[in-house]
Amino acid sequence: MKIVDATSCLTIVSYHYVRPIRDSQYASIKGLEKTDFEGQMKYIMRHYNVVSMEHVVASIRGEEQLPQMALLLTFDDGFSDHYLHVFPHLVQHGISAAFYPSVSPTVERKMLDVHKIHFILACESNKIALVDSLNEHIEQARESFDLEPIHVYEKDYKNPNRYDSGEVIYIKRMLQHALPDLLRKEITDNMFGKFVTNDQSAFADELYLNEEQLKIMIAEGMHVGGHGVHHEWLNHCDKSHQESIVRDCRGFLDSIGVSSQYMTFCYPYGAYNDDTKAIIARHGFDLAMTTEVGITDLCLHDNYMLPRLDTNDLPKSSQAETVSWTRNLM
Ligand SMILES: [Zn+2]
Repeated sequence: MKIVDATSCLTIVSYHYVRPIRDSQYASIKGLEKTDFEGQMKYIMRHYNVVSMEHVVASIRGEEQLPQMALLLTFDDGFSDHYLHVFPHLVQHGISAAFYPSVSPTVERKMLDVHKIHFILACESNKIALVDSLNEHIEQARESFDLEPIHVYEKDYKNPNRYDSGEVIYIKRMLQHALPDLLRKEITDNMFGKFVTNDQSAFADELYLNEEQLKIMIAEGMHVGGHGVHHEWLNHCDKSHQESIVRDCRGFLDSIGVSSQYMTFCYPYGAYNDDTKAIIARHGFDLAMTTEVGITDLCLHDNYMLPRLDTNDLPKSSQAETVSWTRNLM
C-alpha cells in the first residue's frame, strides 16, 4: 500500500447481506448482489487505500498514520454470506475487513427477530397477503393485549418511504416495535413458520457464521468485533442489562481468539447512549461505530461514535463516475 500523505480522514463502509440474490429463493431480500460487491470492490481499489482495523486502532493511538483515501470495510450481523462470498474475495486481494456478528445467533444458532422479518418479507411477493395475515394475528390477540384498532396502526405506520412500500413499512414497524414485545415475537414466529420455514434452527445454521468460520477468518487477518448478544437496541436497555451484554460480547470475542489489543464495537441499529459508551470503554473496547452517515475524521470524532457510509452510497463498478463522498476527499 502506498502511503501518500498522513491524514485523519477515514471512510468506513457498512455491508449486511452480500450474496447471489437475483436467481435465488429470496430474490427480494434487501442486500447487495455478489457481482455488485465485486464491482464495488474494484471501484474502492481504484480510488481508495483499504486499511485494516488494526491500522485504524493504531492510528487512534498515534502509533501509525493513515494513508490518504483510507477506507475500512465493515460487515454487520455475522451472515455466512461473509464467509462464503466476501472472505475469499478479500483474501484473494490481500485486504482485511472487520466483521460484527451478534453472539446468540453465532453460538446458539438461533434466528434474530430482525432477520426473521427480512425473510418473511422476502418470501412472499404479495405484501397485501402478509398484511392480512399480520392483521388477523392482531385481531386474535386483541383480548389478551391492550391494542389499538387496526386502522389506527395503519394510519401511523402504513406510509411508504423512498425504499419501501406502505405495506412493507407497516409490517416492519409493527413487528419491530409497535406491538407489545411478547406479541410481536409470537406473531413474528408464527409468520416465519407460515411463510418461510418451521425449522428455525436449520435456517439459522445456514444463515449465520459459526465460531469455526470466524476463527479461520481471524487466522487469515480479519478483524471481529462486538455487535450485541441478541442485536439489542442498547439505548433501550438499562445500565445493568447493557453491562451484561457488553461483558458477554467481550467474553465471546476473547473465546474466538480476537486480540485484546484490538477490541471494537458496532452498535446494533446504531443505537447507544452515554452509558453504552462508558461501559464499552470500561470493557476495553477502543472504538465503536454508529449508523450515522458520514466520513470519519479521527481528529474530530468521538472514538465511540464513528459514522459510516452504506454500500449504497458508493458506486458498484470500477468504471462508474466518482461520487461526492469520494471526490470530496481527493
Ligand atoms: Zn446489525
